[in-house]
Amino acid sequence: MGRVLRPASLVVHLGRPPVVAGGPLNPPIVLSSTYHQGGDVVYGRDDNATWQALEDAVGTLEGGAALAFASGLGAISAVLETLPTPGRVVVASDAYSGTRRWLIDAARRGRLRFRTVDAADTGKVLAVCAEVADGPTRPSGRVGALGGGGLLWLEAPTNPMLVIPDLEALCLGAHALGMDVAVDNTFATPLLQTPLALGADVVVHSATKFLAGHSDVLAGLVCSDQPEVMEAMRIRRSLHGASLGPFEAWLTLRGLRTLALRLERSQASAGLLAERLVAHPRVTTVRYPGLRSHPGHALALRQMRGFGAVVSFDVAGGAPAAEAVARTTVLITAGTSLGGVESLIERRGRWQGEEGLPEGLLRLSVGIEDVEDLWADLSAALDSPRS
Ligand SMILES: *Cc1c(COP(=O)(O)O)cnc(C)c1O
Repeated sequence: MGRVLRPASLVVHLGRPPVVAGGPLNPPIVLSSTYHQGGDVVYGRDDNATWQALEDAVGTLEGGAALAFASGLGAISAVLETLPTPGRVVVASDAYSGTRRWLIDAARRGRLRFRTVDAADTGKVLAVCAEVADGPTRPSGRVGALGGGGLLWLEAPTNPMLVIPDLEALCLGAHALGMDVAVDNTFATPLLQTPLALGADVVVHSATKFLAGHSDVLAGLVCSDQPEVMEAMRIRRSLHGASLGPFEAWLTLRGLRTLALRLERSQASAGLLAERLVAHPRVTTVRYPGLRSHPGHALALRQMRGFGAVVSFDVAGGAPAAEAVARTTVLITAGTSLGGVESLIERRGRWQGEEGLPEGLLRLSVGIEDVEDLWADLSAALDSPRS
């Protein structure tokens, strides 16, 4: 295709086999651990043609290359395990709980040290980075593939406080201190934000969420535009055995085909629901970057191409009231995860590691149902005497 396609067209057409008369339109699911010797593909833990189709697609969307992993946390582990020992990490204080659990576990074993910081406060983040980094300038030759001078781990927006870190300023500042920057882009997807273009060294995804989009697969991706980083990730994937099943790769690519359409609907609905929640008497706080009242709204307008489909809000009455709302909705499923075609709700504070969150915080992942049905369900639950 000679013309430069826009992302909504790219998601439909990337990762397809070459055009051959009589050939398939879709990549086949290659179910083989074993290959005839003498070729490029040697063994199923290291390589697979169905992964490659998915990796080509997501790598292109992120502006680099991509590698598929067995889950989002598998991808995150690969990045963090690339750090030299002892690793030094600065992490957004409300980054995904699984990432923080990983860091706590690794710190206990003496593998690394980490500091948490409010990612919305650029000055504070860089002050903490300065304490953690070991050099005033980014070494021209890296110590190892990634994080030799320390690693800043960001999530944009964060899960579930929807904090918007200033990616461009933080990448510039961290690089000046000799640190590398990783961004978890799960909430935004490459359609709404491309962190590599803003200076990030590596991007991770839980493809389980919006990329696959149908709550039927676990998958992860690591992306970078630096060949030495990708090579290190390829080695980690094989050593950890964090290989994605070929069918899961195919399902993820299949889900990606409708990403633009799903996001368009979901985020339009999320914006409308956020506005209505603001006006609801039982709701005390609404966090959605599309709201003008959100502290990161102006920044989100600048660094994102949309505000996403996750809203978090606090219900008056704390944990019991919020739990009751999540139990009362019918169309909106109570359960953990996000980014699927079905709307999901849960009280995040019920999880270990999320104790610092507001007690009555509900995270709502807006699906593609009719927005009026969603609001009828949500407002009925908020108005219900049971909740
Ligand atoms: C779910 C999630 C992960 C973990 O991904 P899995 O596919 O569940 O392993 C990582 N980061 C964010 C932001 C997530 O929402």
